Amino acid sequence: MTQTLFRDDAYLAECSATVTAVTGQGLVLDRTVFYPLGGGQAGDTGVLVLADGREIPIADTRKGKNAEGQFTEAICHLPALPDPAASVEAHLSGLGVQVGDVVTARVDWARRHRLMRFHTTTHLLCHLVPQLVNGCSITPDYARLDFHMTDPLDKDVLSAGIARLVAAAHPVTVGNISDAELDANPALVKSMSVQPPRGSGQIRTIRIGGAGADAMIDFQPCGGTHVANTSEIGAVVVTKIEKKSATTRRIVLGFAA
Ligand SMILES: [Zn+2]
Repeated sequence: MTQTLFRDDAYLAECSATVTAVTGQGLVLDRTVFYPLGGGQAGDTGVLVLADGREIPIADTRKGKNAEGQFTEAICHLPALPDPAASVEAHLSGLGVQVGDVVTARVDWARRHRLMRFHTTTHLLCHLVPQLVNGCSITPDYARLDFHMTDPLDKDVLSAGIARLVAAAHPVTVGNISDAELDANPALVKSMSVQPPRGSGQIRTIRIGGAGADAMIDFQPCGGTHVANTSEIGAVVVTKIEKKSATTRRIVLGFAA
């Protein structure tokens, strides 16, 4: 099991950690600041710095999978392969990385911060477009959110709405609710495509807006990494609206040039 430091503090750019497994899925650490692909948000990249100063570039981060293909509690740091045909295990053993080694895990912070700005913006879109979401992809260069709806959307109106919410500098806070609370409020789940992770009894939530019900902008279960205040989003705009199907409108977000 990997301790997920990014869930409590999305601003941690590095941590010290111990290698707990060297596998074909990558290096597993006892704790990490690397976010694994999930909930539409891309996995982190960065470097693992070995005790002797050598750096292992990490090209992607994924949740571990067992033999049956089910997700485990391990987070796998996938090394960049100099030869794409090489096996991950062979590459890592060639580097001499072993279980028990202490490393410094350092995310590509500039890239991660772009992912955080986009992820929080997708939650602002849930406020501006109160419809169910049926698809989401957040990358460092653009994000897209698909809404299950038939009405047309206006790009400039949505960009102005985002700018207004960014200028208002709403706080963004991490919390959690119990499975039972979520069951009693099923409307909190705005996504048809991503189900909140259950099983531990607690589900992580992201709230945008200050204290008090009337200050609430958005509240939903989410495991992703977010900025602490909407002002930090800066200049994010809607670059495109696409009609993906008769019942799906896609909103594409980008950074203003
Ligand atoms: Zn989210």
